[in-house]
Amino acid sequence: MTVRRLLVVLGDQLDETAQALQQADPARDMVWMAEAQEESRHVRSSKQRTALFLAAMRHFAVRLGELGWRVQYQRLDDPQALPTLAQALRRDIEQLKPSELAMTAPGEWRVLEAVRALAKAQNLPLEIYDDTHFFTTVRDFSSHTQGRKQWRMEYWYREQRRRFGVLMDGDKPVGGQWNFDADNRASFGSAGPGDLPPMPRFEPDEITLEVIRHVQGKMADLPGELTEFHWPVTRAQALQAMDDFVRWRLPRFGQFEDAMWLGEPWLYHSQLSAALNLKLLGARELVHEVERAHREGRVPLADAEGYIRQVLGWREYVRGVYWTQMPGYAQLNGLKADMPLPAVFWNAQTPMACVREVVSQTLKQGYAHHIQRLMVTGLYALLLGVRPQEVHAWYLGMYVDAVEWVELPNTLGMSQYADGGIMASKPYVASGKYIDRMSNYCKGCVYRPQDSTGDKACPITTLYWAFLLRHENELARQPRMVMQIKNAQRLGETDRQLILAQAEQHRQQVLGV
Ligand SMILES: Cc1cc2nc3c(=O)[nH]c(=O)nc-3n(C[C@H](O)[C@H](O)[C@H](O)COP(=O)(O)OP(=O)(O)OC[C@H]3O[C@@H](n4cnc5c(N)ncnc54)[C@H](O)[C@@H]3O)c2cc1C
Ligand code: SF4
Repeated sequence: MTVRRLLVVLGDQLDETAQALQQADPARDMVWMAEAQEESRHVRSSKQRTALFLAAMRHFAVRLGELGWRVQYQRLDDPQALPTLAQALRRDIEQLKPSELAMTAPGEWRVLEAVRALAKAQNLPLEIYDDTHFFTTVRDFSSHTQGRKQWRMEYWYREQRRRFGVLMDGDKPVGGQWNFDADNRASFGSAGPGDLPPMPRFEPDEITLEVIRHVQGKMADLPGELTEFHWPVTRAQALQAMDDFVRWRLPRFGQFEDAMWLGEPWLYHSQLSAALNLKLLGARELVHEVERAHREGRVPLADAEGYIRQVLGWREYVRGVYWTQMPGYAQLNGLKADMPLPAVFWNAQTPMACVREVVSQTLKQGYAHHIQRLMVTGLYALLLGVRPQEVHAWYLGMYVDAVEWVELPNTLGMSQYADGGIMASKPYVASGKYIDRMSNYCKGCVYRPQDSTGDKACPITTLYWAFLLRHENELARQPRMVMQIKNAQRLGETDRQLILAQAEQHRQQVLGV
């Protein structure tokens, strides 16, 4: 069997239309895929995330076979399976003797470096194709940011709206406004969310069930649960999930984008991030569908714009940040946070109702929506002063949609402010009162969100004030922090001492010291 070109397809590159495949010839070239232990072990990948990647990869390999491709595929349970991608690829290169390697640009610096090093060591040319799943390239991002002192997502987003003609009337934004954020901050009020549209559930088929059995049996030490699994694992399912979202949840997406409610993980969110990041769904087709739904009068403008801002704006922006800042970015620790990640992130055992809810839901589903990630678990880690690299490893392992290019800037930059303001113009910090306003978590909590000291003091509120006091000097220079710092400076000396002491006591408690 001769192989001209070996096409490396990674677990997050399950795109039938990828350029790397379009440019190849099934008669002479071969696809190479591998399940490698290292990918679920270099950070502790949750059972949900591991099962999703494996199930989607196996389905994709079957699909490629149907399309006429020869596929060399290493399964985790192959007796000859090697633990790392690089080891498995080296072995297969030596056996298949291709004359060149090709792949779509990967989503992680570590993997890109490993494949490059291997190609060099094997003396093989390596062709890397742009990932056409995205609207933009990293080169677009570099030229957008060149010469700018401050990077802001908003300018990038407007540029892409114009460039791709998304929600535009000529050269003006549809509705005369670029941004409807002000309409998108509602909470549910005491009545709660009421009847929510049912979620699409994709029953595991035999391929997925086999994966689930493997993860439950041989990888039982991985964090989280696998009692239910409903993620789309094929392109057909991803398209169905997109249609369901656009029809039932998008019309109320924007208004309740930031709201949280006990026992309701999904609300009006799309849950499409995993399908997007595995490339089962194209960013362009999703944005196109959302715009179409608005133009046909099925979805209000504020909801369509709010959603498109996330996909065309934030998602493409964080990718640019990642690839222009790596590899140094992963090591940044601008606020010099040095606490280890406490056990509560793995076991959800805490009297804090908000943290318990979001961590339990994450362990069970591998999912939390943006505000739960940013303003509950992320906020708690930031206020505690947890090392950003440990927070990053947790987010990268736990969520079904986690791939480093998107997870790292969101965690280390947006949520932990460890990059000194590349991603966010100020740290996202708030007291328990914010969580109380946006959810019903505080109603059933033993603590009181307004109290910063005393028996009932909300740890988020105590830690919030302690954070401002700890970082007073650095943050006073941030124009957007002036009000918060001024409020902290109004605290009397006794209150300051009480808050700092109570915050320290809480830190010691969660570390079990
Ligand atoms: C600490 C932290 C870690 C995160 N880690 C990831 C991650 O590993 N993978 C990931 O895809 N998203 C990540 N996000 C962004 C966001 O939380 C998720 O994209 C979203 O919650 C996924 O759920 P959904 O599909 O229901 O999103 P929806 O609320 O329906 O949003 C729509 C889509 O917009 C995109 N999107 C929204 N916000 C962002 C953002 N900030 N950055 C990039 N894309 C965005 C996603 O593709 C998402 O599917 C993280 C956010 C934070 C604060
Ligand atoms: S009172 Fe504080 S700890 Fe309790 S749920 Fe509210 S914010 Fe969280």
